[in-house]
Amino acid sequence: MSDQTFDVVVLGGGSGGYATALRAAQLGMSVALIEKDKVGGTCLHRGCIPTKALLHAGEVADLARDSEQFGIQTSFEGVDMKGVNTYKDGVVAAMYKGLQGLIKSRGITYVEGSGRLVAPTTVDVGGTRYAGRNVVLATGSYSRTLPGLEIDGERVITSEHALTLDRVPASVVVLGGGIIGCEFASVWRSFGAEVTIIEALPRLLSTEDVESSRRLERAFRKRGITFRTGKPFASVSTSDSGITATTVDGESVAAEIMLVAVGRGPTTANLGYEEQGIRLDRGFVPTDERLRTNVPNVYAVGDIVPGVQLAHRGFQQGIFVAEEIAGRNPAVIDEAGIPRVTYSDPEVATVGLTEAQAREQYGDKVETVVYDLAGNGKSRILKAAGCVKLVALTDGPVVGVHLVGSRVSELVGEAQVIYNWEAFPEDVARLVHAHPTVDEALGEAHLALAGKPLHVHG
Ligand SMILES: Cc1cc2nc3c(=O)[nH]c(=O)nc-3n(C[C@H](O)[C@H](O)[C@H](O)COP(=O)(O)OP(=O)(O)OC[C@H]3O[C@@H](n4cnc5c(N)ncnc54)[C@H](O)[C@@H]3O)c2cc1C
Repeated sequence: MSDQTFDVVVLGGGSGGYATALRAAQLGMSVALIEKDKVGGTCLHRGCIPTKALLHAGEVADLARDSEQFGIQTSFEGVDMKGVNTYKDGVVAAMYKGLQGLIKSRGITYVEGSGRLVAPTTVDVGGTRYAGRNVVLATGSYSRTLPGLEIDGERVITSEHALTLDRVPASVVVLGGGIIGCEFASVWRSFGAEVTIIEALPRLLSTEDVESSRRLERAFRKRGITFRTGKPFASVSTSDSGITATTVDGESVAAEIMLVAVGRGPTTANLGYEEQGIRLDRGFVPTDERLRTNVPNVYAVGDIVPGVQLAHRGFQQGIFVAEEIAGRNPAVIDEAGIPRVTYSDPEVATVGLTEAQAREQYGDKVETVVYDLAGNGKSRILKAAGCVKLVALTDGPVVGVHLVGSRVSELVGEAQVIYNWEAFPEDVARLVHAHPTVDEALGEAHLALAGKPLHVHG
């Protein structure tokens, strides 16, 4: 028996789930949002926000340590992790409070507890049933490990543990050179740790354009971050004083701790999904482009849906599903048009296709240009290296923008407009970019691609 019926029942209150709930309520639907932990999910409590606070603290540490190069004398006394954590937790707490208020103000029925699908569109929470005319699955993801690699939370840790460390480790092995691995490697290096990244694939950020990986690797090398790419991990041994990680070719690295950052798995087991007929693929919930699962009136959003696991993708999918349920026929989300950012130092930001993907799709009708930030005044002022790489179709639109450098995450907004509006290089070349900004480099790269480079030698 159903205790209550809603237009939409959302299972999971992370980025995907709460965005669905907010938009559905805005559209006048009755909504139940079920969350077993804290609304805001991974992004707010264990992901985007706390990591970026740490990275900002790292930037401050680097500036204090290296201020002499700007003619400013400071003395760097060290990192007080208690203070850093207070700052980080303060940011999260303020945003959490704001989000709770938002949920309340929209008249959403917020249900605290662990939900389980007991009929295709009914969720049970501790014996109370919430029936939906539609159900949206948004149960998110967890830190994965490798077979036989045990996480003890002390010496061998995940990003969740890393965010609550009360000290700066003297040395760290980061297992995995993807976004999360590179961000933690960057922040720990800024805090003064010796960092070694072990990555099985041939390069860091292997899903990015080769140029971006190359530039990041060059910058990391300069910062003293060691990385061993093309080295599959074999085993780790732990002792009272630390860990020793060994790769399959027999090389080993000793450190105080090891962070396991080998990806995130979907939280879909034992939630009644399979029993209710929802098809899973290696634990993920496949959907069609309208985010429908194979069961009528059951949708899925966020990290459980195969694709890039990013908070803003979850937000957009949530808005999409709410509008779809409301009959508004929203435009399908182009996954390649979702910006992707690694907030390390330097930052790496991307939208659209890599050169390799473009060549695979369009053969030799692809043109590229790389604009080095050495020619960009603001980057010189910041003493930051990097580049803008554009991938375009011959006599056609820009299909990929790849950025490496300081503050380039703030450029990805313009980059995504260029990609999503299918702008031609000439369209962007005639827009005036403010001087001196890092953003100007985006304008310069388009001038170069349109055949009229300005600040380019040779
Ligand atoms: C270290 C780290 C850094 C990251 N940085 C970024 C970044 O900078 N930018 C970015 O875009 N993305 C980032 N991400 C990814 C981002 O956090 C996720 O893509 C996003 O949180 C996914 O949202 P979601 O709603 O799918 O899942 P989640 O945020 O994981 O939310 C799922 C929610 O469902 C709840 N839940 C699960 N099962 C049940 C149940 N049975 N009953 C009730 N509730 C349940 C969980 O408690 C959780 O709150 C980062 C992730 C990590 C780990």
